[in-house]
Amino acid sequence: MEKYNNFINGQWIDSEAKEIIKVEDPATAKVIGEIACAKNSEVDLAVSAAKESFNKRILVDMPLLQRAKLMHRIADETRKVAEEGGKLLCYENGKNLAAAIKEFNDVADMFDYYAGLTDKLEGKTIPVSHNVFDYTVLEPFGVSAHIVPWNYPLSMIGRSLACSFATGNSTVIKTAELTPLSATIFAKALQNAEVPAGLINIICGYGNEAGSYLVSHPDVNHVVFTGSVATGKKILHSCADKAIPAIVELGGKSAGIVYPDADLNDVVDSAKHAIFGVAGQICTAMSRLVVHKSVKDELIEKLVDLSKSLKVGPGYEEGSELTPVISSNQLDKVEGYARSGIQQGAEAVHGGKRADREGYFMEATVLNNVTQDMSVAREEIFGPVLSVLEYQDTEEAIAIANDTEYGLGGGVFTKDLNKASWTASKLQAGQVYVNKWFTGSHATPFGGYKQSGYSREKGVDGLKSYLQVKNVGISLN
Ligand code: NAD
Repeated sequence: MEKYNNFINGQWIDSEAKEIIKVEDPATAKVIGEIACAKNSEVDLAVSAAKESFNKRILVDMPLLQRAKLMHRIADETRKVAEEGGKLLCYENGKNLAAAIKEFNDVADMFDYYAGLTDKLEGKTIPVSHNVFDYTVLEPFGVSAHIVPWNYPLSMIGRSLACSFATGNSTVIKTAELTPLSATIFAKALQNAEVPAGLINIICGYGNEAGSYLVSHPDVNHVVFTGSVATGKKILHSCADKAIPAIVELGGKSAGIVYPDADLNDVVDSAKHAIFGVAGQICTAMSRLVVHKSVKDELIEKLVDLSKSLKVGPGYEEGSELTPVISSNQLDKVEGYARSGIQQGAEAVHGGKRADREGYFMEATVLNNVTQDMSVAREEIFGPVLSVLEYQDTEEAIAIANDTEYGLGGGVFTKDLNKASWTASKLQAGQVYVNKWFTGSHATPFGGYKQSGYSREKGVDGLKSYLQVKNVGISLN
């Protein structure tokens, strides 16, 4: 079995405490690899390497076109390892192989995209008086710590790291303990691209150990966290104690409104990817459908047909469509939610329990007659469980969709684009999808309303949270 290490200051570093984290294939529950578990000493090493590289101004003073070329090189080298890394990601996460390879290519796209923006971060001149020349410059924060979850281990690294790098920060990434292996293949790409040591460090340790120590480290100046609301709140407290900025990208309970004129096949196509893809472990999962009474029975029938048709299997088996959830704990949690929904009066028109096979597979579950008071309508399940709620008038549909502490995604299915844009204006969500879930790209801003977080990742908007503004006033007397 292969043993992987932390990538610190351009070198592969074992855990001083000699502790390891074993990583499972969720499709078989068998251990497929292990990685040195970072403790405080490895966090100290990684932060000090990042701090040193920042203080030496390696990235900050690099001519901007050279920084951009380095980023394009990282993109090229990442594409070269996409097959190898994607395979490992597929094994450790369980998701479909093509989707896993795409994550590496997404990272490459992010680096290419932000490379083009490195020399377009312009300040302003500000009129003060005839004898003062006043201008602003945009500067990085210093050491930026990024903590990522297991559902999109590479994509989540890519979107924050590319932005952090383009703006001149030095970065320490802590990967999730359930999926740390594939990021080591990305680290190989960084070596192949000859990224100067210390600018990017990738470590893996437990959240409540290495993660919390990293965030509270006195030499960390900026934090990017992607994960659950509960952990996000802890991170925000920790950052408040040091008065440093934090970007938090958290969970969701996104609803799609289905108007009577919707093409129901669009809804079913979205359900296939947005609640049953990656076994529903998607922050913007279409986990609720708010459906007009007149089309609900027909839609339920189509959703049942879809659920029956999905090929269940490991991500590395050709054609698998419903892949496992990440762990035994996650399977217990997801099955527990389905059970509680049924106990509270929902009808499982398909699924409702774990699949009868090895590994952590949950049946594609469609719950009909869900009401707003049920936990399956309110809480993030993070599994292949779709809750269907009924409405009669449009205002009621909007009220149901917004009746959640989350505000990550939202959607609307209708042929009437006026109604679609009216609905988009009413939905309290950071991104709204019309007639197809997941229409965004590396260039579209992404983030949450309400408890789903704040700041934005991706796109030009993403750059803002990685830079601080310095004002310079020159007396001309
Ligand atoms: P999690 O909050 O349990 O863990 C996320 C990361 O935080 C992991 O790396 C973990 O080790 C680390 N961590 C845990 N406790 C910590 C602590 N006290 N201090 C510092 N770090 C700590 O979340 P998860 O279960 O890994 O991920 C699933 C959640 O992530 C879901 O809620 C999902 O919606 C959310 N998510 C959000 C987005 C987004 O862009 N909004 C994207 C992907 C996932």
